[in-house]
Amino acid sequence: MTEKRRAAAADTVDLALADGRSVRAPAAFVDQVVGVDADNDLLIPLDGTDHLVPLTPCCSTSGKSSFECSGVICRGCYEEIDNKYGGLGTLAVPRA
Ligand SMILES: [Zn+2]
Repeated sequence: MTEKRRAAAADTVDLALADGRSVRAPAAFVDQVVGVDADNDLLIPLDGTDHLVPLTPCCSTSGKSSFECSGVICRGCYEEIDNKYGGLGTLAVPRA
């Protein structure tokens, strides 16, 4: 969840936002990213739906519910992460 871990993510590219800022987005997902939520987390559509899900800051993947810790874990590193990553996101700023 730290900036250091965010920077350690695999290949990333700059993605321009509609408000003039830019964020780093993983190259593998950049085509799917529709924008960011209020926390600056990237949002991508849930498979085949209009729903948006936030990508985890650590691994840029989705979260999933965990029965072991009754919270949400990252699908990439299995670290416990904020509950928001197990649910749907709300678009705050679309990509440019
Ligand atoms: Zn992770």
